[in-house]
Amino acid sequence: MKEILILGGGASGLAAAIGAAQIGGKGVRVTLVDQNPAPGKKLLATGNGRCNLDNAASSDPGRYFTASPGALAALLGGIDQADVPGWWEKLGLVTRTDEEGRLYPYSNQAADLTGLLLRWVQALGIQCRTGCRILELGQKGRRYAVQVEQNGAKQLLTADRVVCALGGSAGPQFGTGGFGPALARRCGGKCEPLYPCLTPIRCGDPALLQKLSGLRVRGTVTLLDGDKPLARESGEIQFANYGLSGICVMQLSGLLAPGRGPAKPALALDLFPGREAPALADLFARRAAGLPDPGAFWQGLLDQRLGDALWAAAGLGKAAPTGPDGWRALAALCKGWRFENPTLCGWKQAQTTGGGLSLEELEPDFQLKGCRGLYFVGETLDCAGSCGGFNLHWAFGSGLTAGRSAAKN
Ligand SMILES: Cc1cc2nc3c(=O)[nH]c(=O)nc-3n(C[C@H](O)[C@H](O)[C@H](O)COP(=O)(O)OP(=O)(O)OC[C@H]3O[C@@H](n4cnc5c(N)ncnc54)[C@H](O)[C@@H]3O)c2cc1C
Repeated sequence: MKEILILGGGASGLAAAIGAAQIGGKGVRVTLVDQNPAPGKKLLATGNGRCNLDNAASSDPGRYFTASPGALAALLGGIDQADVPGWWEKLGLVTRTDEEGRLYPYSNQAADLTGLLLRWVQALGIQCRTGCRILELGQKGRRYAVQVEQNGAKQLLTADRVVCALGGSAGPQFGTGGFGPALARRCGGKCEPLYPCLTPIRCGDPALLQKLSGLRVRGTVTLLDGDKPLARESGEIQFANYGLSGICVMQLSGLLAPGRGPAKPALALDLFPGREAPALADLFARRAAGLPDPGAFWQGLLDQRLGDALWAAAGLGKAAPTGPDGWRALAALCKGWRFENPTLCGWKQAQTTGGGLSLEELEPDFQLKGCRGLYFVGETLDCAGSCGGFNLHWAFGSGLTAGRSAAKN
């Protein structure tokens, strides 16, 4: 009987274990190892407890950050063939897709998806070793040997095939502290530098942010290199005491990779994306002239705190401007409010890991080149998806592909 060890019981590990057991049947013994008390801890927190498990555009390589776009396109093609949506359907998960192509369990409950996976783990006879820390991976004869520690006692587990699904460094509160990429490096794989990805962004004057903290506004955020626009995202922008957050801001964080990001980064907020600056200046001037008193200027336009901050930043005094220049300055600021030197927040606030094991190191079935029977999947790899279900598509898809291959070959 072929023995398969799955290291890590997150999204990719669960998919690998179930995929291997489904394909291998009675011919394989699958064991899943995780240091958490139960598998799927991070999954429960995904999508704010709703689990955005996939996206209608998940095959598009342009929605992922990696240093190896060519290799990514090939691996995503392989995942397409694994038919992740069809797999979910066979597992019994009913999904719904929202207007932006994001897939959720029909019940909108991450706990339901995790619960279903754990029922399959049990039904397929997959052995779970939880509360079990993985220390090292080596070889013993022709088999792989994994040193683990459970209840203070060390032990050696051996297997014919090993799938490493140990995540990255994001969200250490869920059991991931960078052990996956470190292990990949120890196995001889080249790794791209790690960075927190899909994080809020630190930027702005602390005194200003203190006043605006907690405020949410719809608009467009542009990442600039000096004055050159690099990427633009629209949606809800959230002000925090450290900087800016919201999905559109987090999305841009993926482009701030150390060494690969812009030399002179800045963010610019457009708080009136539907109007050109001259038309906005005109609107401001006409509006001010028809109001009962100047204090009503921002009412119905923007939150008063935000309006006051823009007014001050445009250099306007207490009274409304008398000529067009003042209104033009205010409109220009509303259309391009700059926040210089944005930096990434830390691992605790990151949804995923940028960098990791280079995709060039992998066979199409996620085997590490030159190491037969040893696979790396999920967030350990140099592939970080955009917000919207791309990371879980990658995690489930790579895990499923590797698990099936491990059981077959
Ligand atoms: C708050 C939050 C919300 C998110 N929401 C979404 C979303 O809605 N949609 C989306 O697509 N993505 C989302 N993501 C990202 C997504 O959850 C991850 O990309 C995905 O879970 C990665 O799966 P993985 O299996 O590669 O790694 P993980 O899920 O991180 O699993 C790795 C596992 O390995 C175990 N492990 C690590 N080291 C050891 C060791 N030494 N010994 C034993 N066990 C070890 C860990 O305990 C962990 O269980 C979210 C992330 C966070 C943090």
